[in-house]
Amino acid sequence: MDKPKIVVLGAGLGGTIAAYEINAAVKGRAEVMMVSESETYSFVPSNPWVAVRWREPEAIQVHLPPIFAKKKIGFTALGAKRLHASEKRLELNDGSSVNYDYLVIVTGPDLAFDEIEGLGPHGGHTVSICQTAHASAAAEAFERFVENPGPIVVGAVQGASCYGPAYEFALILDTELRRRKIRDKVPMTFVTAEPYIGHLGLDGVGDTKGLLESEMRERHIKWITNAKVAKVEAGMMHVEEVGEDGAVKKTHDLPFGFSMMLPAFRGVPAVRGIEGLTNPRGFILVDKHQRNPAFPEIFALGVCVAIPPTGPTPVPVGVPKTGFMIESMVTAIAANLDMVLDGKEPTAEATWNAVCLADFGDGGVAFVAQPQIPPRNVNWSASGKWVHLAKIGFEKYFLRKVRKGESEPFYEKLALHVMGIRKLRM
Ligand SMILES: Cc1cc2nc3c(=O)[nH]c(=O)nc-3n(C[C@H](O)[C@H](O)[C@H](O)COP(=O)(O)OP(=O)(O)OC[C@H]3O[C@@H](n4cnc5c(N)ncnc54)[C@H](O)[C@@H]3O)c2cc1C
Repeated sequence: MDKPKIVVLGAGLGGTIAAYEINAAVKGRAEVMMVSESETYSFVPSNPWVAVRWREPEAIQVHLPPIFAKKKIGFTALGAKRLHASEKRLELNDGSSVNYDYLVIVTGPDLAFDEIEGLGPHGGHTVSICQTAHASAAAEAFERFVENPGPIVVGAVQGASCYGPAYEFALILDTELRRRKIRDKVPMTFVTAEPYIGHLGLDGVGDTKGLLESEMRERHIKWITNAKVAKVEAGMMHVEEVGEDGAVKKTHDLPFGFSMMLPAFRGVPAVRGIEGLTNPRGFILVDKHQRNPAFPEIFALGVCVAIPPTGPTPVPVGVPKTGFMIESMVTAIAANLDMVLDGKEPTAEATWNAVCLADFGDGGVAFVAQPQIPPRNVNWSASGKWVHLAKIGFEKYFLRKVRKGESEPFYEKLALHVMGIRKLRM
């Protein structure tokens, strides 16, 4: 009899380690296959460094096919055109199909630049760090900018859910401009949908408000919160600042010579709009075992999963899905598939805590939120040069694991050992 087939869709930060961990957990009882849209893995958290040439793209990328072959995990880089969930079938971009018994969706975000006129790297006027190729293009734009410096606008637009990288990039740019001794020629403004600096889509963690405001004040970065980007023109961003009642209280026309704005995310086209599978933004609906209620053979993890916002805000703000949470979703799904293959009901749950490192190049801010949504049992933040070093450790550790075809959670170790909070059992 054929073994059941488990297909993992998406070879990004979560999908790659999910394939490794599931393959190890099912111990030959199922065939595991990866459907990727590229042979190259990119370590997304290092993209801000690529955009200022602190990293070359190749240094954060891994060629996946030989590793998957060694681990005896099937691999295609053809990419999925469309999921046919009721037929348990993935239609690939060349018209062929892959059937599955179990599917793990890890497709990350579709970047909704098109929702704001003039936003983004494809025909718009702002650069992006969301993908490594975008970050490489941003590095070229940055080199042109430093020859003729002017104002910089960095931030995250209405509906964005990923704020850490926006802060990181603003502060990394500040560090790089100071190193180049041209910071005095560059007025900087941080524009964000968050109701206050350091909200991060999580209603703050520990004193992220105080820590990040203080960093920005010390580095002469002005900010606009409760901001909606109305439109972007070449060298000019039009921003509406919204009051508590949701009405526009002030408009800002912000000139810029260089700008990076994180877009809102939505589900990727291959899975969007499937009744029972996705919410209206195309994010995958899952229960506490990471399983879709309408299609119980489908599991999902990472940025593609639907999570409600922490609470109402004047401008829509989403909840981030970060490394620690992703690792814990991977572990839960591997355990659940192990149980399902034994004919049992899945019982494993992800912890959904947040442990984050925001690197500023010469320092940084770290936080631990347990659980992610307040009120919390652990609500801790701290800053210092050690955060920059820990982030380098995160990159090295993660890339080593991807190259070796192994999955071992990084963040739990970090939380327990590096931060010296061994008492926390998350
Ligand atoms: C710039 C940036 C920096 C970040 N920094 C950090 C950080 O420092 N720490 C942290 O904890 N979190 C960070 N995050 C948040 C989060 O950890 C990352 O977004 C992470 O990459 C999410 O993992 P994922 O697997 O869900 O999605 P991704 O890593 O984006 O992977 C999704 C994969 O699915 C593939 N895919 C999509 N559609 C298809 C299809 N139709 N067929 C086949 N494949 C498909 C994509 O090609 C991609 O490889 C950062 C996010 C960004 C954007």
